[in-house]
Amino acid sequence: MRKNIVAGNWKMNMTLQDGQALVSEIVNMVQDETISSQVEVVVAPPFPLLPIIGRLLPEGGRLHLGAQNCHQKESGAFTGEVSAKLLASVGTEYVILGHSERRQYFGEDDELLSQKLKAALGAGLKPIFCVGESLDTRESGDTFKYIEGQLKDGLFHLSNEEFEQVVVAYEPIWAIGTGKTATSQQAQEVHAFIREQIARAYDAEAAQNTTILYGGSANAQNARELFSQPDVDGGLIGGASLKSRDFVEIIKSF
Ligand code: 13P
Repeated sequence: MRKNIVAGNWKMNMTLQDGQALVSEIVNMVQDETISSQVEVVVAPPFPLLPIIGRLLPEGGRLHLGAQNCHQKESGAFTGEVSAKLLASVGTEYVILGHSERRQYFGEDDELLSQKLKAALGAGLKPIFCVGESLDTRESGDTFKYIEGQLKDGLFHLSNEEFEQVVVAYEPIWAIGTGKTATSQQAQEVHAFIREQIARAYDAEAAQNTTILYGGSANAQNARELFSQPDVDGGLIGGASLKSRDFVEIIKSF
């Protein structure tokens, strides 16, 4: 059966000291036995913090290390870039790919994301692949068509075995960092649609086994309602992942 996951995407926030303090607090707080044993937690700090934060996560525990991006090549003359292989070598397990901020500000398109997915999988990383529509797309009634295109062009080229490693995140762009969360009904209908597309592209079992996260102004107040939806398997959390109490409240929302 699919896992429940709460992943914290720190984006370009925190310093070394802030990050260490935050993770130490999270590690202490998740000892709390009221947290479901089924929940996996991912923290995705900026690149330089990965090995340091990784060392703070108890081995074999529920906390896992994620990166926010990777380059599509294994190594070479690509100044300023970081390969999936390097990420794996410092203990990274997950990598966020296709985030709308990367698509928008760094011109990442489906073709490039396909290559990044392959590179991540080749290095043994589990991709958290993001899709989501803009406000314009939603208002013009094209949400489903748009998401279908993102899945087909960006993700469904993977083989069955490769796809097994993938977590999908639905992040409506209009909900990211805006305080305007999708209603649980809006999230559920897109998540159910994504699962249906997976069943079509692969099979019913793959669809049932895929973890689909919601992201976009998810917080300690709305997480319980969102996670109660049958096709919402957890969250990809931005702002609220930067405060230990809020993040742990979200983890406790299953
Ligand atoms: P916020 O939770 O800050 O809206 O960010 C969501 C997000 O983009 C996570 O990847």
